[in-house]
Amino acid sequence: MGGRDHKVNGPTDREGEFQVTATIAWAQCLVCERLVKSYVSILHAAVCEECEQKLLQTEPADPGYEPLVESFRLFWQGVAEAAASLDSGE
Ligand SMILES: [Zn+2]
Repeated sequence: MGGRDHKVNGPTDREGEFQVTATIAWAQCLVCERLVKSYVSILHAAVCEECEQKLLQTEPADPGYEPLVESFRLFWQGVAEAAASLDSGE
């Protein structure tokens, strides 16, 4: 057996435990990937206030819009895959 350590991304690794809370805890911003203490919870994703403002203010015609949308697209993909694997019992 090898002795490879797997580093876990983020402060916790509770797979499948989705919770929406107002608990004050550090979270990783979905968009800028910084650890932030103050954030907005969009469904199960944490988005820091800075990025939330960006999202609100960015128009589809802005050059910064695509990367933002891409961040969310990847996020939703992950959510869909997680849900699918739960459904199939794997
Ligand atoms: Zn952010």
